[in-house]
Amino acid sequence: MRTVQHWIDGKLWDGAPQRSGDVFDPSTGQVQAHVALAGGTEIAAAVESARQAFLEWRDVPLSRRVRILFAFREVMERRKDELAAAISAEHGKVVSDALGEVGRGQEVVEFACGIPHVLKGGYSESVSMGTDVHSIRQPLGVVAGITPFNFPAMVPMWMFPVAIACGNAFVLKPSDRDPSASLVIAELWAEAGLPAGVFTVLQGDKEAVDGLLGHPDVRAVSFVGSTPVARYVYETAAANGKRVQALGGAKNHMVVLPDADLEQAADAAVSAGYGSAGERCMAISVVVAVGDVADALVQEIATRTRAVQVGPSREPRSEMGPLVTAGHRDRVRGYVDGGVGEGAELVVDGRETAVPDEGFFLGPCLFDRVTPSMALYRDEIFGPVLSVVRVETYEEAVQLVSDNPYGNGVAIFTRDGGAARRFEREVDAGMVGVNVPIPVPMAYYSFGGWKQSLFGDTHVHGPEGVHFYTRGKVVTSRWADPASDPAGRGPDLGFPRT
Ligand code: NAD
Repeated sequence: MRTVQHWIDGKLWDGAPQRSGDVFDPSTGQVQAHVALAGGTEIAAAVESARQAFLEWRDVPLSRRVRILFAFREVMERRKDELAAAISAEHGKVVSDALGEVGRGQEVVEFACGIPHVLKGGYSESVSMGTDVHSIRQPLGVVAGITPFNFPAMVPMWMFPVAIACGNAFVLKPSDRDPSASLVIAELWAEAGLPAGVFTVLQGDKEAVDGLLGHPDVRAVSFVGSTPVARYVYETAAANGKRVQALGGAKNHMVVLPDADLEQAADAAVSAGYGSAGERCMAISVVVAVGDVADALVQEIATRTRAVQVGPSREPRSEMGPLVTAGHRDRVRGYVDGGVGEGAELVVDGRETAVPDEGFFLGPCLFDRVTPSMALYRDEIFGPVLSVVRVETYEEAVQLVSDNPYGNGVAIFTRDGGAARRFEREVDAGMVGVNVPIPVPMAYYSFGGWKQSLFGDTHVHGPEGVHFYTRGKVVTSRWADPASDPAGRGPDLGFPRT
């Protein structure tokens, strides 16, 4: 059986793994490969190769760096079906969804192609006699990215195009559940002409993460994953003196006001709730129905939920694939069982959806009359479970969202521009959609939530990504001005010259 290896120093690692894990095909439930899990030897080799590569890469002129980024973008465009197939086969999302993920990641590559412009410093002339000040931004060195299973290509691409464009060497530690996409990406970089060691893949689990967090040559850590691990990574990396941004879990609400276009809102709830089987950090998991909109809205959502085609990710007619592992499917199912026990009304029971016998499937589930005290509401479920909470007023809806410990994304559906504007200003979350259920910022803005959805203060990609992967330096220089100093003695330095 195939073993998914590390990519170190521009090639596949050829050492036999001390430990390995299973990689499943979620559509069949079968093990389809093993993944090497890094130990001390591989961690040391990966970081050392990246450190050596950085020493040369930081001096490669911007114009050459950018040509490699453009080439990477073109190679990816040509091989995007291959990348999407690798994602779909191990994650279980349908191929069209995997292609969408590649496209969103590619936008960050395109942003990074413009790095010469965003890396420009500032200049102040004549701050004092013969004295000017300018600022520059320099790369950090070896930087690490630790990423989740749910976007095995896009989330790493939130990080490495910007990190590499800024002159750093990047070590990616992908999820061990769907590790193959990272190797396709490594091949794309090689084909684009990136020098060996500038992009490294270290496969592994907690041991690899801890190895990177403790390594003195790793200068910065970008993490995306669940909140408990985000908090751990943030605290450990910071305690080790590293720069760190750690994006955590989510519980995204979609507020529907009584004046909303119900059909539009219902379409949005279904695609944002069940797309990728709800395994998206920006998935909608709570619909907040305000006032008298609830009965009609629940009916519209239910009709659409029943129509979602669940099936193997490779089948073109499938709209929703399986969950990533049997364990995760059982955990999500546990919330459905628990929700019924807690008294929520199960309007569509995905446990009864006709699904293939093999594979980690669960049909889409819709609950109504969910209350904030229920586990169904409190916890991040990360599966195809949509909860409707009924409130009387706009104010109650905003309070509900703001009281939630997560603050990743939130949406409002309304025809009232004033209400939307007020919501945008008042709501306690990092990314807001107005009649847009998944308000993922474009690559030239930065992505990040608030509260327990982000530890650290810097969001990923866009301008904040550039800031994260560079250090500022300010230079103050004083030179004699021949016109005002014909003797050429130069300004008074405060000490005698010979
Ligand atoms: P996860 O936290 O289990 O894993 C994320 C990464 O951390 C993986 O590389 C994994 O190998 C590693 N890891 C896991 N346990 C660890 C431990 N104990 N110590 C050190 N490292 C550990 O997350 P996941 O299940 O892969 O992904 C789903 C989660 O990611 C959800 O909570 C989702 O909301 C979140 N997510 C958030 C965003 C965002 O932008 N905020 C984006 C995507 C996913």
